[in-house]
Amino acid sequence: MHYEEKTSCPHCHYHGPIQRDFGYRRRKDGSLHPQSWCRICRREERKKRRLMGSPSRKY
Ligand SMILES: [Zn+2]
Repeated sequence: MHYEEKTSCPHCHYHGPIQRDFGYRRRKDGSLHPQSWCRICRREERKKRRLMGSPSRKY
C-alpha cells in the first residue's frame, strides 16, 4: 500500500498514519479531509465535554 499518509496531532504531538489513528471526515461536497486530532484526543475531548455539559454519566 502506497497510500499511507501520516500526520501529527497538534494536541498530543503523536505522529502516525491518518487512516488508522486519525480517520477522515467527509465534507458536504464529498471530499475527504484528515482529522486534525488523533482518535484518542478526540475521544478524550468528547468525554470531557460530555462531563461538563450534562451531569452524571460515570464510566
Ligand atoms: Zn492526539
